[in-house]
Amino acid sequence: MQAAAGPGVVLGPGEADVARHLRDFFHAASAEVVPVGVAYPRTTAEVSAILRVAHADGVPVVPQGGLTSTVGGAVPLGPSLVLSLERMRGVEEIDPDAATMTVLAGTVLEVVQQAADAAGFFFPLDLGGRGSAQVGGLVSTNAGGNRVLRYGMMRDAVLGLEAVLADGTVLTSLNKMLKNNTGYDLRQLFVGSEGTLGVVTRAVLRLHPRPLGRATGLLAVADYPRLLHLLAHCKRRLAGDLAAFEVMWPDFYALGTEVLGRRPPLAPGAGLYVLVETLGTDPPRDQALFEAVLADALEAGHAADATVAASERQRDELWAIRDATGEFPRTLGPQRSFDISLPVGRIGAFVDAVRAALRARWPAIRMAAWGHLADSNLHLALALPGEPLPARAWDEQVLGAVRDAGGAISAEHGIGHERLPFLGHSRSPAEIAVMRTLKHALDPRGILNPGKVVPAA
Ligand code: ZN
Repeated sequence: MQAAAGPGVVLGPGEADVARHLRDFFHAASAEVVPVGVAYPRTTAEVSAILRVAHADGVPVVPQGGLTSTVGGAVPLGPSLVLSLERMRGVEEIDPDAATMTVLAGTVLEVVQQAADAAGFFFPLDLGGRGSAQVGGLVSTNAGGNRVLRYGMMRDAVLGLEAVLADGTVLTSLNKMLKNNTGYDLRQLFVGSEGTLGVVTRAVLRLHPRPLGRATGLLAVADYPRLLHLLAHCKRRLAGDLAAFEVMWPDFYALGTEVLGRRPPLAPGAGLYVLVETLGTDPPRDQALFEAVLADALEAGHAADATVAASERQRDELWAIRDATGEFPRTLGPQRSFDISLPVGRIGAFVDAVRAALRARWPAIRMAAWGHLADSNLHLALALPGEPLPARAWDEQVLGAVRDAGGAISAEHGIGHERLPFLGHSRSPAEIAVMRTLKHALDPRGILNPGKVVPAA
C-alpha cells in the first residue's frame, strides 16, 4: 500500500496517530477494530493508486474528512484502510466571473469561507463544525446548516466534482456552469452517498455576492399554529432576504440561557422562540424593513414578544442561545441526538406527542427540541441523567413516530452506520433495491465504506 501511495504517508496499525481516526463526534469504533493502516494521500493520483490496490486486494476503505459526523459515517466497523483526505487541502482557484471556487477535498469549511470573503464573495453554507469539517465530508453528507432556507444545502453549492471510484477510475468534471444537462448528472451521485460510491477529491463550489447588511431578531410565540403564521408572514414580507428561521422549544431555550447563566433576552414561559435573520444588500433599508415586519407580526398576533439586535454584540448574544448545542455535553450530559424531517405543519404536534410518549416510559428523561423549521428540519437531544442511555429503544420510539408521520429519519446528518437499521422507515423496498444496484455497479467488491448507508443484500 505504501508503494501505491507514493509520497503520501501510510501509517501502520500500531502507530500513535491512528487512534484519532477511530472516532467521530459521537461514536468510537469498537475496541476490537484494528485498522489495516491510515493513508494520507496528497493528490488525486495517489488516491487512485491506493484504491486500485485496495480494489484488487479486496481491502475495505473508509474515507475520512474532519470527523464531525454524528451518525458514525466515518468510523471503521472492521479491519480497513482509513483514507484521510486531510493533507489534500487548499483553494486552487477562484473564478470571479463564474463566481466559483475550486478546492481540494481536505480543505476546512472555515478556510473556504475566509477565502471567499477575501475575494469579495460569500460561501453561505455554515455549521457548528466549521473549524474541522472538510469539503469532501460536506459533499459526501450533503451538509445543511443554518442558511439552507436561502442558499440550499451542499448539493446546491457543488457545480463540479472530481471523485475516484472504487477501482481507481478518476471521474473529473470540474464544471463551472449553472446549466449543464449533458446526460446523467453523475456529480449528484457522490453528494450525500457518504463515501460509499466514490471518494470526493475536488469540488467546484458556487459563490454568492457578499451580503452587505444583516438584521437579526428573537421572537417569542404562543404556540405552533401561530409559529406557522409567523413563518408565512416572514417569507412573504422578507422574501429572498430571509436567511434563518431557527426555532427553539422552551426546553432548548432554557439550556441556551438560564442553564448557562445567561439572562434570557425574552422572558421564559412562551410556547416557542424563534431566531430570525435576513441578509440583504441595503443595510439601512433592510434594518427598517426587518423592524417593520416584526412589528407587524406582533400587531397581527403571530408573535407575543420580540427583540432586535442593535449591535454586533447583541447579534452574537442571540446566536449564542441557538449555538448552545455546543455546550450540550456539559449541560445535558450524555445524549442521543436526532436529525429528522417532517412536513412542517405536523412538527408541533409531533414534538408534543413524542415528548409525552417518552416521558410516560422514562419519567426522568430530559429532551431539547429545536430546528431549522423553514427547512422542515427538527433536531432532538435526549438525555437520562445518571442512567445508561436506552439508545436503541429511543431510536425505535422516535424514528417509528417519524415513519408514521411520513417523515425522513435523516435531514442533514446522513445515515452513516447508526441510522442504517431504520432506512426502511423512510425509503421503500424499491428505492433501497435501486440504491443497492448503484452501489454494486460502482463498487462491485463492496470496499468503499462498508456497513454505511446501503443495507447489505
Ligand atoms: Zn442542524
